[in-house]
Amino acid sequence: MNIDKKTRVLLIKSFLILGAFCLFVLVVRGIKHSAFIEALHQSENDTTDNSHPNVAKQDSSEYSYPVNNLCFDNLSDTKQIGKTITLTDSTTNYYYNVNYPVIGIGAIDDVLKNDAETELSTYLANIAGYVAENSSIRAGLTLDYQSFLTGDSLLSVVFTIVYDSPEYTNPLYSVRTHTFLLCTGSEIPLDNLLAGSYTGFLSEKVADYLKSNPNLMQTMDESTYAGNYSADKENFKKYAFSGDGLTLFFNPYEIASGEYGIISVPIAADDIYPYLIYDPFKQVDIIPQPAPTEPAAIVQTEIDPSKPMIALTFDDGPRAESTNLILDVLEQYNCRATFFVLGSRARNEKKTLKRAAALGCDIGNHSYSHARLSTLNKKGKKKEISKTNDILKKIINKKAKFVRTPYGQIDGVIKHINSPVILWNVDTMDWKTLKPKKIIKEATKDIKDGDIILMHDIYNSTAEAVETIVPTLLKKGYQLVTVSELFKYRNIKPQKHKAYFNVAP
Ligand code: ZN
Repeated sequence: MNIDKKTRVLLIKSFLILGAFCLFVLVVRGIKHSAFIEALHQSENDTTDNSHPNVAKQDSSEYSYPVNNLCFDNLSDTKQIGKTITLTDSTTNYYYNVNYPVIGIGAIDDVLKNDAETELSTYLANIAGYVAENSSIRAGLTLDYQSFLTGDSLLSVVFTIVYDSPEYTNPLYSVRTHTFLLCTGSEIPLDNLLAGSYTGFLSEKVADYLKSNPNLMQTMDESTYAGNYSADKENFKKYAFSGDGLTLFFNPYEIASGEYGIISVPIAADDIYPYLIYDPFKQVDIIPQPAPTEPAAIVQTEIDPSKPMIALTFDDGPRAESTNLILDVLEQYNCRATFFVLGSRARNEKKTLKRAAALGCDIGNHSYSHARLSTLNKKGKKKEISKTNDILKKIINKKAKFVRTPYGQIDGVIKHINSPVILWNVDTMDWKTLKPKKIIKEATKDIKDGDIILMHDIYNSTAEAVETIVPTLLKKGYQLVTVSELFKYRNIKPQKHKAYFNVAP
């Protein structure tokens, strides 16, 4: 198909570009090497660095990486970094158990995943059709890893692979390693990390290790194995760095009889230090971060009158559960809102009302019984307002400064109300939709400086929306203030018998 072809061409191009880049990196490294070796020779007569007289280390900052961006789910001695992915299956004929780490750097994760998955698919292809005569001769694959972080620049992953094959008496062991430079996400050969006569040094170290282990030596025929740890860089391709130093790995039969399995030769950091082209061992502070979290929310501080502000208003409450949820959010972000309460509810929600007032919120008057004031006579209208004010005076020791008439009625009503009437210019329709997502959208899109937003604190769905609305508006640069503050910072004195829909600058 046409698209497939295009994709293939694109892939090939990407590989070519990647290849060219790798070549470039290698060439640059090569140049650095020769420059380093020169510096090494020059420094032979210079003994001012008394800790490691042969070292002319490159600037290590070019290798560093912000390690705290990585995944640190496992922090054990041998799984220092990464989140483990497990692939597993078990049937009467075979089993497998494959573990590999996800580090958090795409290029590295691709290599590790590909290595583990290729091992598994090869295994499955090899055992296809195999029928075990009994469960003790099932085929099996176990792939596990160790991961080590060195300073803030190197990541080593050691894969240990064990095949339980029906064809062999003993399981087959093998080891593979990957060491990555974190700053580039690319694998780095040992030859690009060490310089000088390091192969001779490593060869000696391996010989010493074998000699120090008499059991290994007894069964060793040196002529068989010596070539596999001679001073040749090809012999030291399986390696890992950790904070302790360098470890070389050898497969069974590589440097000793197969019965000893995988052999690892540790070389202390101090011993390898003189051959390193930079210092990867420097200590860094790692703060393990179990899961990605939201960036720290902005908390409102002192109000800046020159910056935009809006008033969130809540009607028909208080209602202990939902009103308190809203107050929790306001308190968390140090914001304030205005609650237009019903006297009939306020008298039974004293605690909630007191909390709102104590948090600096405005308490407004929304009548006593949510009556349609236009249907009441003059006395009835005044009674609906005064009854609520009396209740507020008892509970929070002050009457409401503002009235919001039920249903936003003005005609035939406003002239009887002896305080400013506060309506709104943004209606979230929260009472109708009861859907937090819709409420959030209405309360955050097309918002302007000085807007008054209408919500109702008697619904849990509104309270849930407020959890998002408040930080969203703060992030947009709005200050969340009470209606009185809106007037105060705008230098406007609200008039009685007058209706306000917003307080624009
Ligand atoms: Zn209402």
